[in-house]
Amino acid sequence: MKLKIKKGDTVEVISGREIDKGKRGEVIRVIPKANRVVIQGVNMRKKHQRQVQTQGRTISPGIIEFEGSVDVSNVMLVCPKCDEPTRVAIQREDGASRRVCKHCEALID
Ligand SMILES: [Zn+2]
Repeated sequence: MKLKIKKGDTVEVISGREIDKGKRGEVIRVIPKANRVVIQGVNMRKKHQRQVQTQGRTISPGIIEFEGSVDVSNVMLVCPKCDEPTRVAIQREDGASRRVCKHCEALID
């Protein structure tokens, strides 16, 4: 199944980790094979970075924060027009598929 969410979309987290619920953010990566998306500022993870030396550069140790992926079923697209998290209808026109907001019927792309 094709994902209805694309990179650059704004989505709202509707379920999953309590801390992330209700958060909105921009989709920065889509992983279609796993049905997952990475959203700016959502599902923040911490990673300990050791001091590394590569080609004369030193990467200082510390804690790196990065976004973990979220299952696409835990998020909903936020319609740019009505600003509501919404389901998306796919409209086919001249062989192209377009996404339509089920709330206000605005064309999303
Ligand atoms: Zn809408």
